[in-house]
Amino acid sequence: MIHETLSQKISRAVSLIRATQHTVAFTGAGISTESGIPDFRSPDSGLWSGVDPMTVASIFGFKRNPQAFYDWVAPLTRTTLDAQPNNAHLALAKMEMLGQLDAIITQNIDMLHTRANNKKIFELHGHMREATCINCFTVYPAEPILEKFLADGEVPLCSGCSGVLKPNVILFGEQLPIRELQGAQDAARKADLMLVVGSSLEVEPASELPRLAYRTGAKLIIINLEPTPADKMAEVVIHAHAGEVLSAIARELEKTE
Ligand code: NAD
Ligand code: ZN
Repeated sequence: MIHETLSQKISRAVSLIRATQHTVAFTGAGISTESGIPDFRSPDSGLWSGVDPMTVASIFGFKRNPQAFYDWVAPLTRTTLDAQPNNAHLALAKMEMLGQLDAIITQNIDMLHTRANNKKIFELHGHMREATCINCFTVYPAEPILEKFLADGEVPLCSGCSGVLKPNVILFGEQLPIRELQGAQDAARKADLMLVVGSSLEVEPASELPRLAYRTGAKLIIINLEPTPADKMAEVVIHAHAGEVLSAIARELEKTE
């Protein structure tokens, strides 16, 4: 298989998907770069240059200095609020519609799988639909709060108790949402095939899920620009753009309907 072409790899991926009952996708920031949202590793995004992620993007950092957190996420917030699903998100939505995809487990907070119209999604790292007061836990719809912050630059506060509002994204040092995590673990155990897309598989504990699926009998297909630590476990490894690869896969699957 050393000289396999991209289209041969795609055909093998399609055959595996057709042959299995329970395919689950596991996605990371790389599936959204084609929608203009930088991943952790884009060297020119500037997102992580000059900051210590463990400080600015941790719950401790947030509580100590919410203004620094909000100032740091401002550009990413604007981009995310404006982003549209790309061909990779749309292909996964088509696969679910065709009955060829049980669920998506995602590390992304950008809500693009929802916007693409997938129904069964486990958002391991939260999302930007809501924000919660860190003092009295009142929940607010996030969009108006974030738009106001982007306009005036002031840290959003709870209208009830003046506590700081935190978008419902999971920061370093926070627990993963238990129901999402359990749902994702169940889906991973049930899967006989996992499609890993756009994740470096370096952020724990989310990156355990492809390993869990593999240990409990699933085959893996990995679609990622760079090699990942799980490549050696996978049946098919495709180092190419997710939009191109997934739309080719969905097109093939659709042909046989
Ligand atoms: P990561 O940034 O660690 O890795 C992304 C991987 O995707 C890289 O290996 C890269 O080579 C690959 N990639 C980039 N563009 C691609 C493309 N078009 N097609 C295929 N592969 C592509 O991402 P991660 O593993 O998800 O970990 C990042 C963490 O940061 C997560 O916890 C996530 O919650 C958070 N995050 C989320 C977003 C988002 O919601 N869109 C964006 C940035 C970071
Ligand atoms: Zn409050």
